[in-house]
Amino acid sequence: MSYPLALQKLISFLRKFPGVGKKTAERFAFQIIYWKDLDLTAFAELLKSIKKDLITCSTCKALYDKARCPFCDLDIRDSNLLCVVASPKDIFTLEATGIYNGLYHAIPGLLSPVDHFGPSDLHFNELKERLSRHETKEVILALDSTIEGDATALFLKKELEPAGIRVSRLAMGMPLGSSLDFLDEGTLTRAFSSRLPV
Ligand SMILES: [Zn+2]
Repeated sequence: MSYPLALQKLISFLRKFPGVGKKTAERFAFQIIYWKDLDLTAFAELLKSIKKDLITCSTCKALYDKARCPFCDLDIRDSNLLCVVASPKDIFTLEATGIYNGLYHAIPGLLSPVDHFGPSDLHFNELKERLSRHETKEVILALDSTIEGDATALFLKKELEPAGIRVSRLAMGMPLGSSLDFLDEGTLTRAFSSRLPV
């Protein structure tokens, strides 16, 4: 006997989350259907409006809901520093450490020949344009400690250093193969303060 159709649909939506397999999706679905009506309605309303309630910054790619992007506000941020991340979410992860007050730039992903993601997909010109606009002194690469992260770091170093920009990368405490997403704030703070030239 299979699940009723509505439940099957819910389960297949939940399976879209990374790392969520069939069993977990089923468990989540059975939680959701027993939520209070009030919570279910609030959740549904939130999902319906979440995209229009958030603005993607055209400059750094962070999400915000204020009049302007707080990460690009030159009145409060140090424009000598620019931190390159591979996902807008990483901006919030780093910001939570409180160790950094420079600008951010999210590239669309990491170089990965397997996924056919090459240098032209990095939109490097957007980054170059920002560096010249702010006369950036140091670019900090906050990229995953993976083969893809290493390849991207090397590429960016090769492109940026001839322009006289110091390029550093998060170092100590970042286990090999680790993604920024899984680091706790303490580790991330240490990695940030002990950043090394690429
Ligand atoms: Zn921004």
